[in-house]
Amino acid sequence: MSFVYKDVCGFEWEMSEKGVGLVFIISAPSGTGKTTVVKGLMNQVAGLRFSVSYTTRLPRPCERDGEDYHFVSHAAFQRMVEKKTFLEWAEVLGNCYGTPRADLEKLEAEGIDLILDIDTQGAKNALNQIDQAVLIYLLPPSLKVLRERLMNRGVDSLEMIKFRLSNARNDIEEAHGYHYVIINDKIEDAVDKLKSIVIAERCRRVKDLILKENKKHWEEKDG
Ligand code: ADP
Ligand code: 5GP
Repeated sequence: MSFVYKDVCGFEWEMSEKGVGLVFIISAPSGTGKTTVVKGLMNQVAGLRFSVSYTTRLPRPCERDGEDYHFVSHAAFQRMVEKKTFLEWAEVLGNCYGTPRADLEKLEAEGIDLILDIDTQGAKNALNQIDQAVLIYLLPPSLKVLRERLMNRGVDSLEMIKFRLSNARNDIEEAHGYHYVIINDKIEDAVDKLKSIVIAERCRRVKDLILKENKKHWEEKDG
């Protein structure tokens, strides 16, 4: 669905059709529903690209190489670190994850906004290097629900689930430093809120352009 903003002079701006070079960083405790919510968002808003990270983690049964992650060996990951391929990289829950620097190139020129699904350490490192990053933290409704989601996902051992839950307690504290917090209770509501944030941030980013165009038009009218 597109959102058309019609200004006082009758100009139409399709805010969700085109990105404006923004970078949205989404973090959450593992199992909260980041992947699910981001997929829902991308089905509804055009002009978004998902940054596919590199990881040394093994693929889950439903994951595809190049789509969910680029799955690489530890040696290959280390070579990429040495070549400075990554904007940021971190060790998360025993595996390495990195965001390719190349994904951030030409965003504005191509009319794209980028989505980074990265952990809270990665978000801090990326923020130091990106001017226009919007930080969004997705919260599970409770730790009990998070445990249920991790169990239902059915990809982790009980030991791994306990490890993820103990990390979640500390991770949630980092949400204070984010611009937005969304509770992922009902999936449709979480996607709607995320969509609203993307559209609002696009409006904010092009504010100066809208004002400039409006001013020109007003001056023309005044003769
Ligand atoms: P993450 O990417 O944050 O690790 P996933 O997107 O893989 O999490 O979601 C974890 C599990 O929770 C999946 O089985 C997914 O279908 C389920 N899930 C995600 N969001 C919701 C929701 N709002 N309500 C119920 N189940 C959800
Ligand atoms: P999972 O293995 O469950 O897909 O992801 C584990 C954690 O790694 C999640 O918190 C996810 O956001 C994070 N992650 C995924 N890709 C990257 C990345 O490129 N950099 C960083 N720092 N974290 C990442």
